[in-house]
Amino acid sequence: MLRQYLPMTETDLREAPERFRQRFRQFLHENHPGSAPKSRPERLAWQKAWNATLVDGGFGSPSWPVRYGGSDLPFAHQVVYSEEFARAKVPGPLGTGVGIAGPTIVRHGTEEQRERWLRPMLRADRIWAQGYSEPDAGSDLPSLRTLAVRDGDHYVVTGQKVWSSSAEIADILFCLVRTGPPGSRQDGITYLIVDAHAPGVAVSPIRDLTGRSDFCEIHLDGVVVPVADRIGDENGGWAITRTSLGHERAAGAMNQAHRYRRIVDELHVLARSRGIADDPIVRQRLASVEIDVRLMAYAGARTIGQIVANGEPGPGASTTRILVTQFEQRLHELALELLGADALLGARDPRAIEGGRWTFGFLRTRASTIGAGTIEIQKNTVAERTLGLPHEPSG
Ligand SMILES: Cc1cc2nc3c(=O)[nH]c(=O)nc-3n(C[C@H](O)[C@H](O)[C@H](O)COP(=O)(O)OP(=O)(O)OC[C@H]3O[C@@H](n4cnc5c(N)ncnc54)[C@H](O)[C@@H]3O)c2cc1C
Repeated sequence: MLRQYLPMTETDLREAPERFRQRFRQFLHENHPGSAPKSRPERLAWQKAWNATLVDGGFGSPSWPVRYGGSDLPFAHQVVYSEEFARAKVPGPLGTGVGIAGPTIVRHGTEEQRERWLRPMLRADRIWAQGYSEPDAGSDLPSLRTLAVRDGDHYVVTGQKVWSSSAEIADILFCLVRTGPPGSRQDGITYLIVDAHAPGVAVSPIRDLTGRSDFCEIHLDGVVVPVADRIGDENGGWAITRTSLGHERAAGAMNQAHRYRRIVDELHVLARSRGIADDPIVRQRLASVEIDVRLMAYAGARTIGQIVANGEPGPGASTTRILVTQFEQRLHELALELLGADALLGARDPRAIEGGRWTFGFLRTRASTIGAGTIEIQKNTVAERTLGLPHEPSG
């Protein structure tokens, strides 16, 4: 039944963006998954089913090749895709694989790996989580110590990863490990794909200040990983990581811009409902948020344009990331000011405004300027790679 939405001919593939909009909008309308179930397991099954529906309907990831489940859309269509996606209020991908590992495998994986991993990742049949950071290796990722020792046709991996988003529900971990001698820094790092259910993998959730546990600590104790599950060469992981990190910083920039377009509109409604929308200071603050959200859409479009043109988001992804993360913090700070003392009511309080969503968003976005590289690191990247300023002295 879903086949009716697939482009059937070359002419269809070259359809005008507005015609694509109508077709995608119709698909979203007819297949909309409804609102999210309350219980966690039901919500997970609901999200998985929706991701599979998107891929099977021919509307998987807008930038991935069609043969791996993507839609391989031209630039203008990708913009339309993310506008309609945000407008429909449907759930996005599960885990961090689609935004980060997927583009890395498209670029650096073997054909066998792409065939094996990409479509199940996109359909959310298998959820992927990122294992880069370690207790003593965050911003300084080249100091990571998780060890992978080669033994014939497999590696034996031992070490600890931390802050791994969605690892609790993950089936696969994409990890950076040390295969070179201690001190080999970026020259001794390998990119390995680890089965999250393999013997020796232990995942423990970490609670954050929102009260939720969206990231985890991972212990790896003698985990056997086939050499066939390595991306690129042994000790060649760092160059590949640059693709991953670039995509992590760019991931969803456009989707976020369009999602925040909707949220800014909801903020206007909140200001009106509080009876303060005409206050000159409030008006000025709302106008400032309005300007920012429009700039974000341009920045997101620029990032997609870079990826379409060069296959990589480039250092501009850091500029976009700085813009988005600072914006979402400012937006929620304003929302809390509009709420006044009501902002103190948590989600469980029946008197909480809009189920406490603005307070939750305020708490959650405190971490935005840390995840995917802290804002200081993003600024360093912009200084060195975009502005051409001198490199940081190495320690
Ligand atoms: C919500 C969230 C989700 C995350 N998800 C994942 C995930 O899925 N997988 C994963 O592997 N990791 C994940 N992380 C980890 C994240 O990548 C790291 O927290 C981040 O890279 C910072 O590392 P750190 O916490 O070790 O801090 P540190 O690197 O110890 O930094 C501490 C402070 O020093 C500053 N600093 C460090 N070096 C410099 C420098 N050279 N110049 C200027 N300032 C500097 C930093 O900006 C920061 O303020 C996540 C983190 C968060 C908050």
